[in-house]
Amino acid sequence: MIEVEVVAAGNELLIGDVVDTNSNWLCKRITGIGGAVKRVALVRDEAPAIADEVRGALERGAHVIFTVGGLGPTDDDLTLQAVALATQRGLELNADAQGMVKRKYEELARSGAVQSAEMTPSRLKMAHLPQGAQALVNSVGGAPGVLVRMNHSAIVSLPGVPAELQGIFEGSLQPFLNATFGAGYFLERVAVVDCNDESTLAPILSDVVARHPEVYIKSRARKFGADITFRVTVSQSGHSREDVESAVSAALLDLEQALGGQGIAIDTSI
Ligand code: ATP
Ligand code: MG
Repeated sequence: MIEVEVVAAGNELLIGDVVDTNSNWLCKRITGIGGAVKRVALVRDEAPAIADEVRGALERGAHVIFTVGGLGPTDDDLTLQAVALATQRGLELNADAQGMVKRKYEELARSGAVQSAEMTPSRLKMAHLPQGAQALVNSVGGAPGVLVRMNHSAIVSLPGVPAELQGIFEGSLQPFLNATFGAGYFLERVAVVDCNDESTLAPILSDVVARHPEVYIKSRARKFGADITFRVTVSQSGHSREDVESAVSAALLDLEQALGGQGIAIDTSI
């Protein structure tokens, strides 16, 4: 299983101004392609803090480390400096990244979004990558994504703006993801169970969980009372679609039978 860690940087996340939706999105997508996210860390926009987390992830043997945010042109965007620090490389002007940033600002200048296409020092900053890194096309925003390959691990740095992060993940990062994770498959079913007290459901669920150790089964309690239904999430990821589908179906059937055949509804909106 490919082990993944995520390091999201941003003071705005730690003061509670912005909800860290990027890590959640990455967790879902990585699970969906058969990877295992082992840890997510939120850190300040400080190079040593980000570098410490990246170094820790490398020491823990993570195969892929995602950093999120801090790729922009401003002085508080320090992620690449941190990755360089953690991997003991220098930062150098990357020709591909320079071309990407230049083309982006030419496009923005043509459309009137910025005044000039000039490569100012702060724009050039986005093209300074750790030595040996690969620039990843960002079709939405200014800062390219960055891929640093090492012997055992790879570090993928993505911008903080969600549309940019998602665009790179779905676009220019795909060849790396396919090569690293293979064609993975993830299936999640949410069963709606009529039951007004989770404590009665708990022992039934633990038996089902014990019989299907490879499947993730979790009940989500909301509130108590009559007419309350419980939602039980049943999911699995793996490399074979057939195996995943049959494991999830078997667990759902078992759950239905364990509930005394009262019937469960599958939430089809998921
Ligand atoms: P850019 O290249 O656009 O400057 P960046 O990589 O420098 O992006 P940040 O400056 O760290 O990214 O963040 C840009 C914006 O993206 C933030 O103002 C915030 O609204 C949003 N953002 C940052 N991190 C996250 C996150 N983890 N989850 C959701 N939104 C985020
Ligand atoms: Mg930031």
